[in-house]
Amino acid sequence: MELEGKVALVTGGGRGLGRATAIALAESGARVVVAARSVPEIDETARIIRQQYGVGRSMSVRADVTRERDVVEMFEAVRRRWGGVDILVNNAGSTGATKLITSLSLREWQQAIDANLTSAFLCTREALPDMAHRQWGRIINVSSDSASVPVPSMSPYSVAKAGVEHLTRLIAAEWGHAGVVAVALRPGVVDTRMQEEMRNRPPDEIPPELRALYAAYKQRGLLIAPERPAAMIAALCTGRAPDVNGRVLDAAELDSLVLR
Ligand code: NAP
Repeated sequence: MELEGKVALVTGGGRGLGRATAIALAESGARVVVAARSVPEIDETARIIRQQYGVGRSMSVRADVTRERDVVEMFEAVRRRWGGVDILVNNAGSTGATKLITSLSLREWQQAIDANLTSAFLCTREALPDMAHRQWGRIINVSSDSASVPVPSMSPYSVAKAGVEHLTRLIAAEWGHAGVVAVALRPGVVDTRMQEEMRNRPPDEIPPELRALYAAYKQRGLLIAPERPAAMIAALCTGRAPDVNGRVLDAAELDSLVLR
């Protein structure tokens, strides 16, 4: 129960890695705010947490984290109810359009940048003042190997994740003195709807090589359960992995740091 008394907010907490992370943080003792656009999904995550860890341990907030107003209002609601956010997990994201650069519309480019990067900026901007005031905060940004591996036809997603990683270094540089620890995590290939959606994307919306890559992850048994990176995120927040401020970690590195 190392996170007892802490308030955690998980974006994209309605399913997949976000849901598993919300539950792992609750298991460590935090009260958890579950945010996303699909109300039945966030309500279900919040219900699971209440059922397992008690009434008053979770709240769900419908928010599109690409919208400034939604994000500002969400943090205001959390401040009113629980006094502010100590732990922010910027997990919401989507792969966006899978096309060559020449075929992308500006809208498609911006949608992926907003879902994966602008969302993290907006939530971080709201969380930091409260964290600095308390001289304690944890910001975990969910990234991807595609931040450094150039996968053709995934440019907006990849560029957004590269941005998320540098945002992480910048948060550490600007706010480390105020007790804020920021880490970017590349979770690996995780068995979630995002993977399923890529495998099943209609052929006119994804090049065959990219579809085949995602199909191969499943066929070769490479998908990992979301509970594994989720447990790593919770461990990072409890401080079991010291000296990580501003670092970009993959699951294996994090595993060795946490288990060391
Ligand atoms: P997922 O099952 O599709 O979950 C994505 C979550 O993000 C959903 O809860 C979704 O909820 C939320 N979301 C998306 N856009 C949003 C918006 N504008 N506002 C609020 N919430 C939004 O995918 P996942 O695999 O768990 O992905 C979680 C994170 O892991 C993402 O950042 C992804 O890039 C990263 N990641 C995943 C993998 C993988 O193999 N699965 C690998 C590397 C990195 P709503 O649609 O209801 O809003």
